[in-house]
Amino acid sequence: MSLKQVLVRQATLPDGTRTDILIERGHIVEQGIVSSRSGATTIDADGLLALPGLVDLHTHLREPGSENSETVLTGTRAAAAGGFTAVFAMANTSPVADTAAVVEQVMALGERAGYATVRPIGSVSVDLAGERLSAIGAMASSRARVRVFSDDGHCVWDPLLMRRALEYVKTFNGVIAQHAQEPRLTVGAQMNEGALSSELGLTGWPSVAEAAIIERDVLLAQHVESRLHICHVSSADSVDIVRWAKKRGIAVTAEVTPHHLLLTEDLASDYDSRFKVNPPLRTRDDVEALRGALADGTIDIVATDHAPHPVEAKECEWAAAAFGMLGLESALSVVQTAVVANGFLSWSDVARVMSREPAKIGRLSGYEDPFVIGARANITLYDPTVERVFDASSLASKSTNSPYLGRQLLGRVMTTIHDGYLTVHDGELVSADEVARSASTVKEDERA
Ligand SMILES: [Zn+2]
Repeated sequence: MSLKQVLVRQATLPDGTRTDILIERGHIVEQGIVSSRSGATTIDADGLLALPGLVDLHTHLREPGSENSETVLTGTRAAAAGGFTAVFAMANTSPVADTAAVVEQVMALGERAGYATVRPIGSVSVDLAGERLSAIGAMASSRARVRVFSDDGHCVWDPLLMRRALEYVKTFNGVIAQHAQEPRLTVGAQMNEGALSSELGLTGWPSVAEAAIIERDVLLAQHVESRLHICHVSSADSVDIVRWAKKRGIAVTAEVTPHHLLLTEDLASDYDSRFKVNPPLRTRDDVEALRGALADGTIDIVATDHAPHPVEAKECEWAAAAFGMLGLESALSVVQTAVVANGFLSWSDVARVMSREPAKIGRLSGYEDPFVIGARANITLYDPTVERVFDASSLASKSTNSPYLGRQLLGRVMTTIHDGYLTVHDGELVSADEVARSASTVKEDERA
């Protein structure tokens, strides 16, 4: 059995061109004006923006180990609902993704679900303990072909361990993604350090704790001539260091989250723990610096840091609440609000920072040139003109810790096409059975 053809009518590409797109066996086979096809699923995309399928380099899917907050299935459903066709799954699961067996398990769960390509991230250190390197080589040569390694949630603090990790991944063109947080400077930290944290009586997380690690690590990357990626850059000081490093030709890339592009520390004022996140929300000046850095290419990509938590971990007093917020289902709307509506980024820039570049950093192929004949059909159809109230009942994620609940957000994902089949249709998720069937058909097609 083969997949049904999909015909997208009159979509607007990021550069403003209008086109029909015919998809067959997972690939784009015709563009321009395409004649009708009987039996094809036809989508009227008049007025909709066609973006390349979004790629998230920083997702916490929580499986194995914390299936009460998210699973690979629910997390990839949330991804599809947000317009993503590929996610990189962070390693801080239980057990930690520090062996080939765990990364292969996560990848297989993703393939079975079919909502998005799941590329596991391996941990840098065994059990995220920061002491010994994990089985990096075995994960790289496993079926999951891991290329991104990170202890995210924890900083790789030991400079010698960091050096060894950077040296190791060079052999297969991998990258170390650092959660930059000097641990001694952030003991007990709860929010951005400044006048507000003193006023609220919450221990501060100073931006120097981030900048100091980034500074050390870009120098290490330069010294061993390896590739470094900085997770969730949150401050103006960090931006300056990344800019300096790039000017020197150091192979460093950086990400910013949608929430750090929009939200500021004052949201902590009434101790609403939905706004508790690591690194913390910072100041208006930091937000402006991050927007400018994304626009000028100092920051390469937007990544969600989607961090689901069960209700009991978030709905409690600030000091006891877990760090993190949902991100996948609101990402595109928040990016539109934070940097498109005010002219920092064009839609072509969005395609670059949310699809092409994250795929490139993670060595995920198929996203280099999305709208050409023969390209893998990973496409998101987005209506940037609508406004909607973001509410918990519409969330596909298993958790509800979104900072945007009850807020009016711009834009809506109407259709997501992953590997040539629909995962979101008319603004609704396609059923799990149908998506799983399509995914296995693609696999059969590829074997044939
Ligand atoms: Zn992190």
